Amino acid sequence: MLSASKSRLLRPLTAQCAVRVASMSTMPREPHIADLWSPPELAAKNNVVDMSMQRLARHWDDSAWDEAAIRGAQKDHVCATWAPGNSLDAVPLITSAEGVWLHASDGRKFIDWTSQAICVNMGHSVPPAVMNAITHQLETAPHVYSGLGMVEMRSRLSALMSDLLPAELTGMLFPSSGGEANEAAIRIARRFTGKHKVMTQYRSYHGGSASTLGATGDTRRAFAESGVTGFVHILNSTPWQFNWAEDSEENAQRALAALEEQILLEGADTIAAIMLESVVGSGGVLVPHPSYMQGVRALCDMHNILYIADEVMVGFGRTGKFWAFQHYDGVVPDIVTSAKGLSSAYLPLSMVAMNSELHEWTRTNPIGWGSTYQAHPVALACAYECVKHMIKEDLHGNAQRMEAVIAECQDAIVAKHPSVRQARAIGMFGCLDLIGPDGKYFQSLARAPPHKAVVPYKKALMDEGVYCFFRPPLFHSAPPLVINEAELRDGFARVDRALDVLDEHLGF
Ligand code: PLP
Repeated sequence: MLSASKSRLLRPLTAQCAVRVASMSTMPREPHIADLWSPPELAAKNNVVDMSMQRLARHWDDSAWDEAAIRGAQKDHVCATWAPGNSLDAVPLITSAEGVWLHASDGRKFIDWTSQAICVNMGHSVPPAVMNAITHQLETAPHVYSGLGMVEMRSRLSALMSDLLPAELTGMLFPSSGGEANEAAIRIARRFTGKHKVMTQYRSYHGGSASTLGATGDTRRAFAESGVTGFVHILNSTPWQFNWAEDSEENAQRALAALEEQILLEGADTIAAIMLESVVGSGGVLVPHPSYMQGVRALCDMHNILYIADEVMVGFGRTGKFWAFQHYDGVVPDIVTSAKGLSSAYLPLSMVAMNSELHEWTRTNPIGWGSTYQAHPVALACAYECVKHMIKEDLHGNAQRMEAVIAECQDAIVAKHPSVRQARAIGMFGCLDLIGPDGKYFQSLARAPPHKAVVPYKKALMDEGVYCFFRPPLFHSAPPLVINEAELRDGFARVDRALDVLDEHLGF
């Protein structure tokens, strides 16, 4: 209910004017708006914190942090990200790690089957040169803001990236995460072209920020669906439920024809960029036919659209080539983004490499993206030594050599387990497609609640000592690139045994 005085305020203007005029003569003064406003009442809480050493003592006392204390603080204060917080209640407490192995507080030992989030490519033993570089940078100039000054490592890592990429790619940015790298790439593409739309694939993931989640095609995009504009999703050249054609070359050509039709119908003059994962990673190790990727590059040139290669997951040797776009002869992207393997995730760092035309443009135009931590000196120093280590140790060569072992182990698993329909492998990156008795993915790729077989299968994997990032119905194998053949075969033997449990729970 409006109070009497408020309801008077809402009367039509002419009536209010009439009242005001009247009040100047005989009527008592009408309340002015200032008389009607009352300050909002604060529900006061205590914001004074006791910062005495006595109260904070446990933070200086390592012995206060036994497992019960750690778990208690976890329950009381730790938040999760993509899953509800209680999903962390039962995760192991990792106390140490080396090579491809993780050790938990309860004595369990796990093989790291997906290099955490497919990022700890060099494994869990940090080479001394990387340690020294990090320490040296901390001891000399721990942070210089990238907009205000230069450090040696920024130039040296930029030069190294340019030496490792095709000659066209000359300009380098170093954000902190893969999502940020894609965010910056999208900003560059939009500002440079003056166009807004970006085309991405349904089976893709590009990051957790609003724009990059809008760019993402998999179900995670639902978290940002309201309010993100300008992303047009296209079907992958390797769709989920059908083939464009039986023959793989014909399949690629039809997928390209569909893509061009979509470009024309959207209007090429509205499309800034096409952004593709060079090999689709979390979406299932989908390796497009070279003709498709060559055709996408050609379509971009024909229609004046920039081509962005998202190599956040597959850059730095994961697929057996240093860059995954090198699987496609003649294809050079306008922009390459990467992260993860760049620093083996020892410190957060990502990169954006852009061609010389874009690079030249950035010399006289602001990109319009930035961050306090862009080109963080300590992360740069870490990445510089990591990349040199990868090259010297030929880790991408090891990934390429191990592809045959992964393929052999996966083929044996397909032959044995009814729940495994098919497998793919490229370099140190394998994936199994898991199905139910009806021959379809046991968990839909569309939005759906988790299948009841997921929990027992995950438990079986943990019981077998396999630590992995399982995205049902896809089972990825992506151990650190330092893994040797014996460890790889050991890991697959464990996965094989855990799959017995999945077969059973799926009703085979
Ligand atoms: N792009 C791809 C292909 C990814 O796989 C990921 C993460 O998995 C990202 C972008 C986002 O990277 P980040 O989690 O570092 O933001």
